[in-house]
Amino acid sequence: MSSGSMESSRDLLARLHRIIAACGECDLAATRTRTVPGEGDPDADVMFIGEGPGAHEDAQGRPFCGPAGALLDELLASIDLPRDAVFITNTVKCRPPGNRTPLPTEVDACAGYLRHQVRIVAPKVVATLGGPALRALTGGTHPMASVHGMPVQRRYFTLLPLYHPAAALHKGDLRPALFEDFRRLRECLEGLR
Ligand code: URA
Repeated sequence: MSSGSMESSRDLLARLHRIIAACGECDLAATRTRTVPGEGDPDADVMFIGEGPGAHEDAQGRPFCGPAGALLDELLASIDLPRDAVFITNTVKCRPPGNRTPLPTEVDACAGYLRHQVRIVAPKVVATLGGPALRALTGGTHPMASVHGMPVQRRYFTLLPLYHPAAALHKGDLRPALFEDFRRLRECLEGLR
C-alpha cells in the first residue's frame, strides 16, 4: 500500500497503465502497435529502466521480451533475483521507429509516467540500463564506461547505472562487466536490508 492512499500500488499502476494505453502525447503514438508500460512486482525493491520498446516488445506489449530480455533474464538468474520480484520499464512506453534512440521530446513526454511509476513502486534501487535511461533520470551525460556499477545515493533510492544488455549482445566483451555489476546490485540490496 503506498502511503497517503487507500489504493494499493497494484491498483495505482493499473490505473496509470490504462492512461498510458490511451496516450497520444508524442508522435510515437502514431507508429506503435501496443504501449509497453512496464511490468513486475508493484512493490519491488528494484526497478530496471531501459531505453524503449523494440519490435518484440511493441508486438507483445511487454518490456524486455526479445533477445535483450533473454540476457536480462540470465543476469537476474545469476543473482537469484526472480523476474517477477522486480519491476521493469523504459524511459519511453512506445517503440521508436526502427529502434532509434528516443528523442529528448519523446523522453520528456513520457517523463511524468516514469516519475509516477517510481513513486508508486518506491523501489530501494533504481537500475538504469544504458545511457539514455541514465540521462532520463539524472539529466547528465556521463560516459557509461566510467559510471557503470557505481551506486549513487539519491533522495528516495539508490541509483545504479548499468550497461544496457543489448550493448553486451553487440559487444561481447561487455558481458563480464554486466554480470559483475549485477553482483553489485545484489550487494546493494543486501546492504539495504
Ligand atoms: N530494450 C529496451 O531498452 N527496452 C526493452 O523493453 C527492450 C529492449
